[in-house]
Amino acid sequence: MIDPKPPGIPLSMAHLPTVGGLAVPWITARTGDGRHLFGAVDADRKDQALLRRLCGVCGRRHDERLVLLMRLSDLPRQSTAEPALHPTCTAYTIAAYPMVGGRLDHYRTTPQVLDSTMIPPADSPARRGAPAEPWFAVWLRGYTVITDHGALAASYAGSTPLRIRPINLTAPFSA
Ligand SMILES: [Zn+2]
Repeated sequence: MIDPKPPGIPLSMAHLPTVGGLAVPWITARTGDGRHLFGAVDADRKDQALLRRLCGVCGRRHDERLVLLMRLSDLPRQSTAEPALHPTCTAYTIAAYPMVGGRLDHYRTTPQVLDSTMIPPADSPARRGAPAEPWFAVWLRGYTVITDHGALAASYAGSTPLRIRPINLTAPFSA
């Protein structure tokens, strides 16, 4: 079930475009005519975020603490291709986007048309129809950029996370 009313947009995200009352993350892919493809990622912005330590949601530099949103299957590798987020941006993302919030029982089944500059969302194509995985918030002071299967990724191998918390749907995300 999706909340009928979108969550309030934090002041730190007020510069982002909105669609249907939801702030559009900075790394969200866009079509040539300017439409946002929710869930699909702009490959160039993703790499910029990883390399320059920018937040994937608001596009601004990280502060002292940052969060990686990770699927259960990503945890053993201690790395993810998704850029890190500010804690505030993490809280908004969990409230605003049902996939990370785990509110959908299954991934979407509608494919999106993407070009070569776009990275398909986690829900396609191999995972289409598969049960949704649990997500975790991994709190860090920093990460190293590695190359994983030819793509840049954020890794915390060799350092101890501040904490790893399952994303809890019944309690608000808090720092
Ligand atoms: Zn941010």
